[in-house]
Parts: sequence; C-alpha cells; structure tokens
Amino acid sequence: MSSELMIQTQDLTKSYGSFTAVDRISFEVRRGEIVGFLGPNGAGKSTTMRILTCYLAPTGGTARVNGKDVFSDTLGVRQSLGYLPQRAPLYLDMSVLEYLQFAADLRELDASTFKKRARNVVEVCGLAQVLGKEISELSHGYRQRVGLAQALIHDPPILILDEPTSDLDPNEKTEFLEYLKRIGQERTVLLSTHNLSEVEAACARAIIVSRGRVVADGALSDIRARSGSVSTSIMVAAENMSGSSVSQVEIKSALDALKGVSKVEAPPSNGQAYRYELATPQDVDLRADLYRLAVQKGWVLLELVRASQALEDVFRDLTLGDERKNREISAA
Ligand code: ADP
Repeated sequence: MSSELMIQTQDLTKSYGSFTAVDRISFEVRRGEIVGFLGPNGAGKSTTMRILTCYLAPTGGTARVNGKDVFSDTLGVRQSLGYLPQRAPLYLDMSVLEYLQFAADLRELDASTFKKRARNVVEVCGLAQVLGKEISELSHGYRQRVGLAQALIHDPPILILDEPTSDLDPNEKTEFLEYLKRIGQERTVLLSTHNLSEVEAACARAIIVSRGRVVADGALSDIRARSGSVSTSIMVAAENMSGSSVSQVEIKSALDALKGVSKVEAPPSNGQAYRYELATPQDVDLRADLYRLAVQKGWVLLELVRASQALEDVFRDLTLGDERKNREISAA
C-alpha cells in the first residue's frame, strides 16, 4: 500500500505564551517517502518533530503517526517510530553493543528479538567494526550512526531525524546520507535540516517551513519550478560567419521578437562579443530556437546557457522573512 498515510498533521500549533512557534502546520507523509523537513533555524522544525514523537504537547490541531493519535495513543506512536534528536542521547562510557542493548531494554525487546534486530541494525548502520568500542572513542560520524541504530532497534516503520548531520564533517555527512538512503528504501523518513544540499542528496520531496508555517510542499522539481523565471544567456561574436560586423540593434530586436521571451538584457560588452540575458517563464526552453536563429542570421554563437534553477534561490525567497528576523534578533 504505497499510498498509506504514515504521518498526518492538521493545523498543528504550538504556542509559548504569545509566541507561536508552530502555526497551523498541515502535511502528510506516505509510506516509503523520505521527506526533507527544511527551514532556517527557528522555523519550528524541532518543535514539530517533538510533537510528532510525543515529547511535547501541541496547543492546537491534530497529529497522527502510523494512524495513531499523538494525544490519545502515545504508546502506539512511540512503537511506530524511531527518533534521533539533534543531540543523540548517547552514554559515552557504554560500548556500542551495550548501548544498543540499553536501547532495546527501554523498548522492552526480548533477548531473541534483540539478537535479530542488533544484527540487522549493525549491518544497515555499518557498525560491525566498532561494536566493542566505547562510544567516547568514536568519531561524530560513527556516533550519529549509533544514534540511527538505536532509533531502528525496535524495527519501526517511521524514522524522525532532527538535523542528524549538523555536527558532521562533509565526508561524514555524505556517508550518513548514504546509510539513510538505504534505510529509507523500506521505511518512511522525515529528515529535518537547514541544509538544502542534504535534501537534494537524500529526498525526492521537501516540506519547507518558515516562521512556523509551511511555505512549500512538494517534489523538489515542483518547488524549484515555483520561482518566477529562468534565464538563458547567449554570447554572439561581433563578426558574423561571413566576417562582417553584426548589428547589436538587430540582435536585440530579433531576440525581443522570440516567442516566450519576457525580457532581454544586454550587459556591457568588450567589443569582441555581445552578451544577452533572456528571461522566460520556467516552462520555456529557448535553446533550440536560439540556435536556429543564430544559423539563420549567420551569427557565431560563442555561448548558449540555460541557467539551471537553483533550489537555493527558491528557498531564499520563501524563507526571507526568517533570515531577516534572525538577523534582527542577533543584532538586538
Ligand atoms: P528549528 O528546529 O526550526 O530551528 P525550533 O522548533 O527549535 O526551530 O524553534 C521554533 C521557535 O520556537 C524558535 O523561535 C524558538 O526560539 C522557539 N522556542 C522553542 N522552544 C521554546 C520554549 N520552550 N519556549 C519559548 N520559545 C521556544
């Protein structure tokens, strides 16, 4: 049942006095999805996740995890999910194996289930080499994988991971996301981060939150497409194919006349070549038309590039208010 709803929130709200940290957030996550829960610091990601994991009570709205209500069935919710908070609650003086045993005891797993599950989590989190080591001796990367292993020990269908990579170096991050992708093949994962490249590496879908609200929710390609226009840049040599000078006025008017072009800009040129930036709606790709036009006019095309739409630009537009607010707070 690929369409089974594993996480559902409806108008979820959390206020601290007059401050609303989570403001009527509604979203759904289906079985088998790895969803990036994305937003700048302070957007409300941790608060939402702590409500979903029954560590915090909402002040309004509803949330269901694996069909179970976070208000009325906390036990059912906790059995359905594994949670890795921002700082994994590791006991540094335990060995990895002792810690996994400890996590299994908390979950009340019997000895034979623990044996089976331990074998599985050690394999999927790549811990075989460090099983007997004290956690204090492990690198951050390994520690987070131990955190992931404890979240998986009771074989939950859902994983909720709160900025699990924020303390990792780039290599450790990449490695962690690789493990996560493999684990996500059979589980539903909600992964919070303020780092877009992580979402691009591990998730097909993102929910972007800003100041407690959902500002975008969908496939990364759709979110990318939300930004207004895309720019195509061309550079035409000052001499055409037969060796005579080309007229800038003529180039500009031919470009202006192209179907789908909303604006043509001509940055200053060096006299050897002329550059133009053409703005179009997202769904228009001018490259073939530009090539044909150049051939027809005898222009020598030195460059033809359609800017790939950066998710970062969309993210910045959607969450600009947050950044400003954060700056104001840190300046105060
Ligand atoms: P994120 O995880 O996106 O960085 P959080 O959910 O941690 O954001 O925080 C959202 C907002 O709620 C922040 O502005 C934070 O300062 C505020 N907040 C979190 N916990 C409390 C609390 N216990 N009391 C008051 N404000 C809080």
